[in-house]
Amino acid sequence: MTELSPALKQATPVLAARGEGVYLFDEDDRRYLDFTAGIGVTSTGHCHPRVVEAAQNQVGTLIHGQYTTVMHRRLLELTERLGEVLPTGLDRLFYVNSGSEAVEASVRLARHATGRQNIIAFSGGFHGRTMGAAALTTSGVKVRAGIGPMMPGVAFAPFPEAYRHGTTEAAEVDRALAELDQLLMTTTSPKDTAAIIVEPVLGEGGYIPAPPRFLAGLRERADKHGILLIADEVQTGVGRTGAFWGHEHAGIGPDILITAKGLASGFPLSAIAAGEELMSKAWPGSQGGTYGGNAVAAAAALATLDVVRDEDLVGNAAEQGQRLIEGLRKVAAEHPVIGDVRGLGLMLGNEFTTSEGAPDAATAARAHAAAAEEGLLLLTCGPHGNVVRMIPPLIVTAAQVDEAVACWSRAVARAVAD
Ligand code: PMP
Repeated sequence: MTELSPALKQATPVLAARGEGVYLFDEDDRRYLDFTAGIGVTSTGHCHPRVVEAAQNQVGTLIHGQYTTVMHRRLLELTERLGEVLPTGLDRLFYVNSGSEAVEASVRLARHATGRQNIIAFSGGFHGRTMGAAALTTSGVKVRAGIGPMMPGVAFAPFPEAYRHGTTEAAEVDRALAELDQLLMTTTSPKDTAAIIVEPVLGEGGYIPAPPRFLAGLRERADKHGILLIADEVQTGVGRTGAFWGHEHAGIGPDILITAKGLASGFPLSAIAAGEELMSKAWPGSQGGTYGGNAVAAAAALATLDVVRDEDLVGNAAEQGQRLIEGLRKVAAEHPVIGDVRGLGLMLGNEFTTSEGAPDAATAARAHAAAAEEGLLLLTCGPHGNVVRMIPPLIVTAAQVDEAVACWSRAVARAVAD
């Protein structure tokens, strides 16, 4: 195979030839259950016929309009459709192409709107690789190492990690919120703090759902101090967690919501959403980008939202997520090396830990590689790389979940025996 770059780190050995639903096929037509979904992107599965049709139609009509130059109909329709599923009041949108760009856009908006500089992010959080987003990211050393100096004005507060700290969720939430209060008294005073940015489920940091009381505590502090709450729903949005947005599990709403990944089933599209008053504070010309809001991506997003609604993919994510976590817990019960199985909906992680309680990245890596040999594509995550995560398309069926659990069971048995 031609090598793209010596720095390329490819998580699986697969050279994909085509995708169909939950399956990927390599060039020898070997079939894989794709529980990576392009890192949580192919929400409606690979090449869903309705998404394909919408994109094909759009390609022949208008590929690119550049909406800060000329508006096009698909983007207006998408804004209206997103308005139906976004939290009440968050009906103004700005479109870009990737999660990182949308994170940058949210920081620009928060700084403009508040006139304050500092952003609070969380330990283990991941917000992207562009320089601003990387400055908010601590999920592993790889994103930040050697690229400094980083964007200033970022303070980090702890994210509740009950399993890793061997404590209860309640105690972790108390500790995390107390440390946040301390941070607001010492490091970044409220009058200098523009925003708190949080993932409803810590993603790259290890698939750890934010406890509802923690998110409620953030909302409370944001309200008290006039700080904006940004929900980074790049990975958790569009049904992934069994609710349309991940923050819904906590019953709170953000001031700015970031969506990307699952929004357009694989076409590059992301957006920030905010209320009209807040969005009007973006300085003219400060947001945008040449390819943002591309017409084909917007058409694919419209079809994606239709499929999510018509096939009840949010409900399916909740139902199949429950089936999957039950299956994974049975595998973990047979193999103590998997110390924790957790997540929400179809965003589930298996944390590998030694008998002494240390991260066991070696066994996780063997299980991950063995799973690919068994026909199940997976990803790892977590600061130590010891969490094997599962993030299948939202169309996954009960039979495919059972097939994946069977592959996983064989893979873990092989990893433990090696
Ligand atoms: N935020 C979150 C929560 C993410 O999971 C990711 C990607 N894994 C990003 C931002 C960055 O998105 P992108 O890779 O599209 O720039």
